[in-house]
Amino acid sequence: MTKDFDHIVIGAGISGLGAAHFSARRGLATLVLEAAPRVGGCINTHEFQGLGGFWTEAGSHTCFNSYGNLLTIMDDLGLTSRILPKAKVGYRLWQDGERRSIVSALHFLEAAVSLPRLFTTPKQGQRVADYYGRVLGRRNYRDLLRHAFQAVICQAADDYPAEALFRRKPRRKDVIKAFTFADGLAAIPAAIAGQERLQVRTGQRITAIVPDQGGWRVVADGASEVTCDYLTLAVPPDAAARLLPTGFDGARHAIGAIAMAEIETLLLAFRGADLQLPALAGLIAVDGPFYSAVSRDFLPAGTHRGFAFHFRPGALCRDDQVTVACRALGIDPGQIAAQAQVHNRLPALRAGHTAVVGRIDSAMAGSRLAITGNWFLGVSIEDALTRSRRETDRLFGAEPSRLP
Ligand SMILES: Cc1cc2nc3c(=O)[nH]c(=O)nc-3n(C[C@H](O)[C@H](O)[C@H](O)COP(=O)(O)OP(=O)(O)OC[C@H]3O[C@@H](n4cnc5c(N)ncnc54)[C@H](O)[C@@H]3O)c2cc1C
Repeated sequence: MTKDFDHIVIGAGISGLGAAHFSARRGLATLVLEAAPRVGGCINTHEFQGLGGFWTEAGSHTCFNSYGNLLTIMDDLGLTSRILPKAKVGYRLWQDGERRSIVSALHFLEAAVSLPRLFTTPKQGQRVADYYGRVLGRRNYRDLLRHAFQAVICQAADDYPAEALFRRKPRRKDVIKAFTFADGLAAIPAAIAGQERLQVRTGQRITAIVPDQGGWRVVADGASEVTCDYLTLAVPPDAAARLLPTGFDGARHAIGAIAMAEIETLLLAFRGADLQLPALAGLIAVDGPFYSAVSRDFLPAGTHRGFAFHFRPGALCRDDQVTVACRALGIDPGQIAAQAQVHNRLPALRAGHTAVVGRIDSAMAGSRLAITGNWFLGVSIEDALTRSRRETDRLFGAEPSRLP
């Protein structure tokens, strides 16, 4: 019996939208099902109510010219010509109640002595603390790198797998190094989801996947059902483990080893004139209850300035988060023009993760079910899309026109 779609993708974060794009451009009838009312997942450009369209990034904030798979999608959708460069503003450390320069925490001599080990120390299988402690020195790791990495992955960094952080990728010379869009990074998921070649349904929390005549029946919590020949799971690991159908016990067991980090993100907007703070990319917290703060100063808006503070879960109530954030920015909470809260989640990968992925892949081999996400190669947008591209190639074969 014919199915409703050739390919269904569950989850409309960048992993799922990428997988859908890669199948739709092969001419396959593709549907994306998303639990939330919006697409994008961790790509979440937040527009503040009543501030004339002023936005700040609640999640992902930067894409680079080394994001090759992302750039092919952007080329397909005519997005590459719309990119804007990010203003060159620097990060500061937030330590002992002061904003300090990054170099104030650097031990130059130790770095100079350690750096040659960069060429002889393998990354694979190492914890971040061990690898970077070796190639930049223990004190540099303790006083600077640990906090910088925590700021990036919004969780404790010591046990994170070194190979999953900062993967080297070729840069595309015709594209600016770090970019965004006039309406923020949400322009990317919006363009992928908005194309005519694929369908997206939001507000569809999927509760079960049932094998169905060589394909799949996908059940949403409203009990609606839709069928397909091929299926891609593009949800966080805990959701993927719950949804995996019977027969994939090996994969479910392997996925069970992957935890999630919860992040309480506080978004604040101020009138530019009210803030004395010089323009900055953000704050890297060395101590305190937040990992990092990312500003909107990379694309000045004239009237307002915005910040996303990424807090450890459960450390502070909202009022105390506001107090801490305003202290770090040097402004009175009474000057806040708008605020919002967002819950972010990122996978808490651990050293040895490559072997976990190997076990998942062996369990999925030969099936018409793919699994993608930011919990395979690393958490960057490009890591997620690289996994999506590989899984789509596994399901449907490589695209002849795009072979290297
Ligand atoms: C604060 C922050 C800053 C970041 N900054 C950067 C950056 O600057 N550059 C960069 O490259 N990366 C950055 N990242 C990482 C990157 O944004 C994410 O790793 C990536 O966007 C994750 O995409 P994903 O599709 O794998 O997962 P998600 O974005 O988490 O998407 C998963 C989707 O699945 C949906 N879902 C879950 N369960 C179900 C279900 N049962 N049924 C249907 N749908 C379901 C969810 O609602 C969600 O939309 C950042 C991440 C965070 C949190």
